[in-house]
Amino acid sequence: MDKVIVITGASAGIGAELAKQLGAMDAKVVLAARRKKELDAVAAAIGNDALAVVSDVTKRQDVEHLAKAALARFGRIDVWVNNAGRGISRSVGELTDDDLDAMWRDNMKSVVYGIQAVLPHFKSRNEGQIINVSSGLSRVPFAPVRAAYGAVKSAVNMLTASLRVELRATHPGIHVTLLLPGVVATEFGLNSLGSGIVDNRKLPGAQPVDAAARAIVDVIENPRPEAYTSSFIAEAVGRYQREPDAFEAEVASRQR
Ligand code: NDP
Repeated sequence: MDKVIVITGASAGIGAELAKQLGAMDAKVVLAARRKKELDAVAAAIGNDALAVVSDVTKRQDVEHLAKAALARFGRIDVWVNNAGRGISRSVGELTDDDLDAMWRDNMKSVVYGIQAVLPHFKSRNEGQIINVSSGLSRVPFAPVRAAYGAVKSAVNMLTASLRVELRATHPGIHVTLLLPGVVATEFGLNSLGSGIVDNRKLPGAQPVDAAARAIVDVIENPRPEAYTSSFIAEAVGRYQREPDAFEAEVASRQR
């Protein structure tokens, strides 16, 4: 794959697996995350020029530096994957101001910083792809304790669609893709804020991380407005839209 691809949240989970799959396809990958040791290990496993740039995506200057580092090394960026994100386990009645700020900062501002860092470059070429990793929880209330997370990911969905519509008129060569995973077997639950820590790797039906990453490779090879990583989550969203009351009753009965 003759593309330069920036991936945030590439030290672990879906981002690390995506970087490895793309590296194996000969793409030039630029990996970003906060933990240097883990990030360097992923880059070393990929080899072929993979570039690790320690970055905190909640800091605008870090994200701008990431774009500059990628351009300095490879001369262009073809795809930017806003993948870094963080969950929360806290029911709506117990959410604090700090929780709300953290969800917005980690899952929304970080995406805006990524878009703004790469957009001038993409616009100058009328070419490129932005992939924003959302969540099935932005469309179905499967996990009430993840309400604030799902709500902010819903905001990411609308931001993504609005950007796509805006660019369609002015820069039709730029693709903007929303990627919606269901439960994926990563340390996402362990890294979440709040109480009631869940290990996603032990949840029944969790999608293997390689399959989730393959879905992102597929939208890079075949750009389209949005994609789910599994048919399970796509079908759940479809059913929720058709039968919201029955669907919610079923989810609620499982909470008891
Ligand atoms: P993990 O917790 O396994 O990995 C998160 C990655 O993001 C790590 O590499 C982490 O690295 C990085 N990261 C977190 N915060 C920051 C930050 N402030 N700056 C830079 N990097 C950061 O999560 P997943 O791989 O499972 O999740 C990836 C994406 O998929 C997220 O957007 C998540 O919301 C979404 N998703 C995941 C689902 C799941 O079930 N796993 C389901 C639906 C959506 P480091 O700590 O080194 O910074």
